[in-house]
Amino acid sequence: MIRTYLFFILICCLLIGCDEKRPEGDMLPQSAETGAVNDHKNVIVVLIDSMTEAVINDGLDRSSLPAISYLIKNGFVHHDLVAPFPSMSVAIESTLMTGSSPQKHQVPGLVWYDPNDDVIMDYGSTLSKYWKLGVNDTLVNTLVHLNTNHLSPNVETIYEALHQKGYSTGAINFLVYRGHQTHDISVPNYVKVLFHLPEKLKTKGPDLLAFGQAIQPKVVQNQKVDDALYQRFGLNDSYSAEVTAKLIKENQQPDFTMIFFPNYDKDAHKHGPVSPEHFTRADGYLQEILNAYDSWDNALEENVFIIMGDHGQDQLKEKKEEVAIELEPLLDPYTVAPLLDEPSSGDVVISNNHRMAYLYPTSSDISYFDLASKLQQDYRIDHLAWLEEEELVIYQSGNDGVLHIKEGGDWQDQYGQTWTIEGNEPIVDIDLNQSEMKLAYGDYPDVFHQLYGALRSHSETMIVTAKPGYTLKSEGAPVHYKGGEHGGLHKNDTLTSIIITGTEKELDNHNRRMESLKDYFLSLFDK
Ligand SMILES: [Zn+2]
Repeated sequence: MIRTYLFFILICCLLIGCDEKRPEGDMLPQSAETGAVNDHKNVIVVLIDSMTEAVINDGLDRSSLPAISYLIKNGFVHHDLVAPFPSMSVAIESTLMTGSSPQKHQVPGLVWYDPNDDVIMDYGSTLSKYWKLGVNDTLVNTLVHLNTNHLSPNVETIYEALHQKGYSTGAINFLVYRGHQTHDISVPNYVKVLFHLPEKLKTKGPDLLAFGQAIQPKVVQNQKVDDALYQRFGLNDSYSAEVTAKLIKENQQPDFTMIFFPNYDKDAHKHGPVSPEHFTRADGYLQEILNAYDSWDNALEENVFIIMGDHGQDQLKEKKEEVAIELEPLLDPYTVAPLLDEPSSGDVVISNNHRMAYLYPTSSDISYFDLASKLQQDYRIDHLAWLEEEELVIYQSGNDGVLHIKEGGDWQDQYGQTWTIEGNEPIVDIDLNQSEMKLAYGDYPDVFHQLYGALRSHSETMIVTAKPGYTLKSEGAPVHYKGGEHGGLHKNDTLTSIIITGTEKELDNHNRRMESLKDYFLSLFDK
């Protein structure tokens, strides 16, 4: 997901200067001052984009991860944390912050289509798409609408929940950060005129909000900062670590802080999911945070540390012509509008989330089954899924038959969800234990909940995914051949790791899904 940040902040750097509304010199509210009982440890969550079991274990074998090794040795680690679907950072962050699936938080992915306004919402998947879709729209979508309008007001974020309990909160370099505190985003006048931006842009975040060079907390304002920290305009691991270390050293650390390390995702896209020499750098920035305390042991006495990934990365095939599944030729004779045209001027709208895409027929004459029949001809396509009223219909390329799923029923999965299952079960690689009526997932963890969540996250749509090794191609979508990619439903995309240190509170296997973590984080503040 680095591309989102990279290109978004490129625009930000060119266009925006932001200032926080908090008056100069005002200090963060500490929990003791706000009435909360100050007998808890602070909580620090570091999210390392694309961190997985394979790259952690490779680094541990090489003894190249001192911080991660120390945290695992003093805590516990799980490698079966399931991301929501689509496994793209914007949707995942929304789930992490709200403890809900895309059905409830209503951020459907990096890219989605709004038929009411006939626009493709894109939080910035590639530079070329930025320009084609319009800098103005993308900028405002990402900076303002994502947190203010797109993220459902009916779900509460972790920052809002902790503020209610009297705890202070902070977010460093996250895209999704809605909180109680209003922050003004000031845009230079010439930019407002050029891009017809509103006079005032506002966003709501936690007490402490850092977003690259665009929104700087007081600890780094007016300070001489090494220029290297502003590579990618501050949306990088070193800046995230620097801001965090300054907060700690200046006793400005909030009770609960979430810190995003975006760099490894870029490395994994380029060099492949297991790129230990690059992952080592993320460990170095973790060391910088631990080193801000008197000792690493002291860091654990004062804090609960949670180091987690957001999704996996699937290793793509080497041949460029094989790896990219061109969707438009497969859909022929149905047409897809060029990005510059109104999306509804084609027969089908594609919202490409790399290893998954949403498809929207623009005419009732075109059925999901029609589209699925065409796409299913390609051996690299994996699943095709849509809703028929409340029933989930799933096809798979290379597998005969169909699977019909309903919510509720006799089959129970590890998360306590129950399902009615009819049809060809191997389509989703599940194991059914007849004597106990238990359902065990194989290659597609939590597949039914994930598909329901995505299909109910916005307007009517169908889903197509790519088999491992491949990615979906449409206008403007990147192809990381030989490298890594994600977005899909497969465990290569959706499984990630979590390391928890400084608390005895376990995260049991019924709760090892991203949407359970908000409650888990809140439980760390229970008296
Ligand atoms: Zn990515």
